[in-house]
Amino acid sequence: MKLAERIGRLGAESAFDVLVKARGLEALGRSIVHLEIGEPDFPTPPHIVEAAKRALDEGWTHYGPTQGLPELREAIASYISRTRGIPVGPQQVAVVPGGKPIIFFPLIALVEPGDEVIYPNPGFPIYESMIRFLGAKPVAMPLVESRGFSIDLDLLYDRLTDRTKLVILNAPQNPTGGVIPREDLRAISEMLANRDVMVLSDEIYSRIHYGDEPPVSITAFPSMLEKTIILDGFSKTYAMTGWRIGYAGGPEPLINAMRKVMSQTTSNPSSISQWAAVEALNGTQAFIKPNARLFEERRDLVVSMLNQARGMHCPTPEGAFYVYPSVEGLVGKTAPSGKVIQTDEDFCVELLEAEGVSVVFGAAFGLSPFFRISYATANEVLEDACTRIQRFCGAVK
Ligand code: PLP
Repeated sequence: MKLAERIGRLGAESAFDVLVKARGLEALGRSIVHLEIGEPDFPTPPHIVEAAKRALDEGWTHYGPTQGLPELREAIASYISRTRGIPVGPQQVAVVPGGKPIIFFPLIALVEPGDEVIYPNPGFPIYESMIRFLGAKPVAMPLVESRGFSIDLDLLYDRLTDRTKLVILNAPQNPTGGVIPREDLRAISEMLANRDVMVLSDEIYSRIHYGDEPPVSITAFPSMLEKTIILDGFSKTYAMTGWRIGYAGGPEPLINAMRKVMSQTTSNPSSISQWAAVEALNGTQAFIKPNARLFEERRDLVVSMLNQARGMHCPTPEGAFYVYPSVEGLVGKTAPSGKVIQTDEDFCVELLEAEGVSVVFGAAFGLSPFFRISYATANEVLEDACTRIQRFCGAVK
């Protein structure tokens, strides 16, 4: 069988590859601590689960509108308007199976082969993969550790050309937990004001942040509303990764173009999950802030323990549930197996082999020598993992 050339342009989502490897070791009886997958450890809140059960009992088991149930689009439009301080109506909302399609669908509706798309580096690997898949040119925008893994405005400016079609922003960020300060967003909006450039603003972690002020959306700045597609969803805030409900808020012509693609691919997201999502937005929000505080405690625990590990440096992120420590101090050292650690991938492989801690190497996100820990798990598990990492770093010669 000869597969299409474009399939070769799709990258991997390494967190899932690492998970498969770690599960293989587990099957052999090894004790493995999983810090690779980015999903909250708490269950979907019961009132949301009940809403899905009701939907089943009421017979919501047929095809639905392509763009999403009107009740859910209303709830999302009102939520986006409230949280971002912008006027958004249900006609500017499209509901899809998970947040991920809000990378593919806007790109397919916007970019031509050869167009340039600027994306954060390190970043969620799907951005670069999808840009390449569609024959556009990925242009990496380095995030700067010394700025809390935010954007360097000069570096962004340098990358804008006549071929730039789209800039992807993501804050709070995967894999670094970085956020983009309000003033930088203002500057970016000014930089783009007179250009024919769209923005995909991935705000899926917007409710998981640690400052007093919630992260700002670039849509809040003049004229950005017409140029920006917001990506958000239910996976992270409401612990609904398996329900597959995400959405876009954006300019109507783009949403209409996406709807054409959706009608011929996904048809519609699961109606049962959509009713659960309506309840997620309209029901109590009381658990969201306490959950964020819990994540903050876990962040503090992990940052402090990792900074005590020999040769490791771990910045303190402002949001999401990831840390992105540097292993620069361990490169060139010999692991207990006798192998010399040359890359962050070597570090992660050796750590998994020696101590059974499963994490994702930085190269998978585009920046070395780092690795990503997802700390969306219990304190005891994190303490155990960080103790193992400290022991590994101590044993490296
Ligand atoms: N955007 C970012 C930055 C993510 O980290 C993720 C998931 O990890 C997504 C989008 C996609 O979310 P979903 O699981 O709802 O497809």
